Amino acid sequence: MNTSTVAARAADVQGKVTTFDAVVIGAGVAGMYQLYRLRQQGLNVVAIEAGSAVGGTWYWNRYPGARVDSQAYIYQYWFSEDLAKEWNWSERFPAQPETEAYLNFIADRCDLRKDIRFNTRVVGARFDEATNRWQIRTDAGDVLDTKYFVSCAGMLSAPLTSTFPGQETFKGPIFHTARWPKEPVELAGKRVGVVGTGATGIQVIQTIASQVGHMKVFLRTPQYIIPMRNPKYADSDRAAQKQGFQDMRKRVQGTFAGFDYDFAGDSFYDMTPEARRELMEKVWADGSLSFWLTLYPEMFTDQKVNDEVSEFVREKMRERIKDPVLAEKLIPTSYGFGTHRVPLETQFLEAFLRPNVEIVDVKASPIVCVTPEGVKTADGKIHELDVLILATGFDAGTGALTRMDIRGRGGRSLTEDWNRDIRSTMGLMVNGYPNLFTTAAPLAPSAAFCNMTTCLQQQVDWVTDCIKYMESHDLKVIEPTRETEDKWVAHHDEIANATLVTKTDSWYMGSNIEGKPRRLLSYIGGVGTYRQKCDEVTASNYAGFNLQ
Ligand code: NAP
Repeated sequence: MNTSTVAARAADVQGKVTTFDAVVIGAGVAGMYQLYRLRQQGLNVVAIEAGSAVGGTWYWNRYPGARVDSQAYIYQYWFSEDLAKEWNWSERFPAQPETEAYLNFIADRCDLRKDIRFNTRVVGARFDEATNRWQIRTDAGDVLDTKYFVSCAGMLSAPLTSTFPGQETFKGPIFHTARWPKEPVELAGKRVGVVGTGATGIQVIQTIASQVGHMKVFLRTPQYIIPMRNPKYADSDRAAQKQGFQDMRKRVQGTFAGFDYDFAGDSFYDMTPEARRELMEKVWADGSLSFWLTLYPEMFTDQKVNDEVSEFVREKMRERIKDPVLAEKLIPTSYGFGTHRVPLETQFLEAFLRPNVEIVDVKASPIVCVTPEGVKTADGKIHELDVLILATGFDAGTGALTRMDIRGRGGRSLTEDWNRDIRSTMGLMVNGYPNLFTTAAPLAPSAAFCNMTTCLQQQVDWVTDCIKYMESHDLKVIEPTRETEDKWVAHHDEIANATLVTKTDSWYMGSNIEGKPRRLLSYIGGVGTYRQKCDEVTASNYAGFNLQ
């Protein structure tokens, strides 16, 4: 069944053999698990990773203040209760080094690194219709010949590093947050500029405000925020989490967003204003994304409901920012709460009360370019800086794959296809690209609306089961039909277009990239529903997919 032996695999590490059963791109949360699962099936598999170590998001995003905002006890692997019992989380929302350490612990314990090629980037891949196999090219000049090609390249892994003209002329260093160096960066006493106030910019700003000499925050769109409640875990908390492992593992699979919390079932219109207020206060006090993901389902679809919740959050923000001029700059009014990613924060608003922190309103006067001295805005002003930090985000969902040259049937290009219209079948496969499996790709909850570890593991499990089916039935090719894909896209759009999310500009809609086709990247029908639909495909022996 397998095309090569363990001995051949060992030889390949020295660059002699280039044939695999499966090639996985990425060694982050999904890639590590995919490698583990396929290897467990006895396949000859290699993972290709651009970084020098495992971790994916948690390898690249080592900027000051980087921190997860899913609770630690659900941001984990579920395949081994023993491993979960061995690991001890220190707090509810651990900082980047702890999550990176956890992923390294998993890599150690599962002996994953021997099958990962680090410091290597996939630059292109071509499906050969004569052999029904993929040829994958790396920047090391290798060609990997494989039956299955699984992308675990991540949804937020193509950073927008070249945002402004003239960046190369700047005299000081420029750091994109997703390319933050491993070496310490000296910010003390420096004039630092930060562009971007998404979830990343917020974490950076609140963390470095007290360290830098002077900070200019180039702010275009203010954010609704939720104060993070991040208690340290006691031994008793950890014991309870370990005890509840199996229940939690089941629970996260069925909720709206893959977290342990879910909508309480209260309908906005069945509640009195007082009861609604009480509910909002209670959920707000939890200090988690639960305020976004559990209040009322109608909040995502009904303007009146959204208005009430938005005003509640604005009120909470106004309580912290008394200065009306500052409040106007920092409190959003132009879009509804929760219609794009809501960040958790700690003393973010208070950073702007410091004398060394200044807002540059780049809505009123956009950034024109970077000069040797700093950042030039449309009013002609040059904001002099020593260091420039770009928290400007990513080409989300599609960028990881469109930055490679992926060619399917008839030489068709995934980059060209997705530059015209972003389509997929359940975010797992794309018509025209047989045996290419995708995780964290457009039109699945894992593209945004999910606790990532829940959705990535579900997708990896689906891919693994599919490959197992192929091998056990001696099949060469699987590909969704055009009709199946059309149906999924229509279903996705129907749900998406009924929400307010599609009315707000953000990376969720691809609108942070000029010319990117507008479509909600993430399936928003719920993680539990999505899982059920994926399971139905498996149970039907892949009805709607061509198998040969
Ligand atoms: P983002 O949400 O896309 O935010 C990018 C920011 O850069 C926005 O404030 C944007 O302003 C600004 N920007 C971009 N181009 C600009 C320009 N030319 N001029 C001025 N401002 C500009 O990116 P992100 O903050 O890196 O977050 C991406 C996602 O990563 C999050 O939504 C979240 O899913 C994930 N994340 C998670 C965590 C966590 O779990 N704790 C932490 C960080 C990130 P506009 O809004 O006006 O476009």
